[in-house]
Amino acid sequence: MTPEEVVERYSRVISRASHVTYVPIVPYRAENALVWDIEGRKYIDFLADAAVQNVGHNNPRVVEAVKKTADRLLHFTFIYGFPVEPLLLAEKLREIAPIDEAKVALGLSGSDANDGAIKFARAYTGRRSIIGYLRSYYGSTYGAMSVTGLDFEVRAKVGQLSDVHFIPFPNCYRCPFGKEPGKCRMECVSFMKEKFEGEVHAEGTAALIAEAIQGDAGMVVPPENYFKKVKRILDEHGILLVVDEVQSGLGRTGKWFAIEHFGVEPDIITLAKPLGGGLPISAIVGRKEIMDSLPPLGHAFTMSGNPVASAAALAVIEEIEEKNLLKRAEILGERAKKKLRRMKKKHELIGDVRGLGLMLGVDLVKDRETKERAYDEAKKVVWRAYELGLIVAFLQGNVLRIEPPLTIEEEVLDEGLDKLEEAIEDVEEGRV
Ligand code: PLP
Repeated sequence: MTPEEVVERYSRVISRASHVTYVPIVPYRAENALVWDIEGRKYIDFLADAAVQNVGHNNPRVVEAVKKTADRLLHFTFIYGFPVEPLLLAEKLREIAPIDEAKVALGLSGSDANDGAIKFARAYTGRRSIIGYLRSYYGSTYGAMSVTGLDFEVRAKVGQLSDVHFIPFPNCYRCPFGKEPGKCRMECVSFMKEKFEGEVHAEGTAALIAEAIQGDAGMVVPPENYFKKVKRILDEHGILLVVDEVQSGLGRTGKWFAIEHFGVEPDIITLAKPLGGGLPISAIVGRKEIMDSLPPLGHAFTMSGNPVASAAALAVIEEIEEKNLLKRAEILGERAKKKLRRMKKKHELIGDVRGLGLMLGVDLVKDRETKERAYDEAKKVVWRAYELGLIVAFLQGNVLRIEPPLTIEEEVLDEGLDKLEEAIEDVEEGRV
């Protein structure tokens, strides 16, 4: 099959609701940060497969764990038994999570983990309301979609959970309150406080669900003291803090969990994407009294805790530990940011470079003063990068998403950044 044929056949049988494509890449084989398509063309993967491949594509330790486990036990549902692999995984998650004596529920995707977090928060507090952030993405199942601050069009068509409210996330480059960094009174915090005194009944609110760093919103890093202030308000009202670490967790930002940069202890953490190293598995890790608030089968799937996926997840965590990938993410992130900031000096199209560790965003603008989003240019950069052998994407239409595997070699990272600069230059010069 040629790539063109595959893309054409996709459009005939795969619902457009279940995938999105910027470029017609048809992957055949992958290794660490490299992907080869069905015609043998090589690409550098700056998306790490949508932040899934933290330990690199086809990581040998993960592949070995999968093969060994699959050979003897493809599946045994932990609804009717006690397979060992999910137990070992839960014990390991409890060890690394910044929550004392946590308990764990396992699932299959980031979306179902966030649905579960909403259920646990509601069951434990006996309250209904959930607060989400505008522009945050929590997933595609009903609960996760309902608290997501995007996709309002889908909700208008299909309905949603009731008792959901939204607040703006602190964004110092595009402040929702029109303020300048360092010259504000943290209106993002007072807005939340006022919301609880007005429209939202604090005593009826179960949880705030937050990405510690907003991913799909364009890699938005909050000010350092933001979550401490938020947590104080939540604690005053007995509201739980659910942190969605589906994209930012497991080393992506240089710590096990991105929330650890901000010095607060969440009540619940959700994980997926990199957890299975490419296999579908998710986890909700929460304070044990919260995680015991639903009755048996209150949040269970037949395939939860699949032994093969659990063994893969254990291998991912061991790999992060043994290869010291938290430190590596930090070092490579600084290296990439330095290069990107140097590029910003040369290229007017770059309005902002931001992120932590290897969770980076490059905000493309038509004009640095007005910060008007450069939608067409972003599309062209992504396309040109693809032609040059680099997989990259845009978020919010204009923010380049840079999330390579944490195991990417320095030379490959540099080569990818050079390709990105060439793509940006070609677009600026009107060559594409
Ligand atoms: N939460 C965040 C922060 C995400 O980035 C995503 C996926 O992009 C999800 C949740 C949903 O995860 P999944 O696609 O595995 O359901």
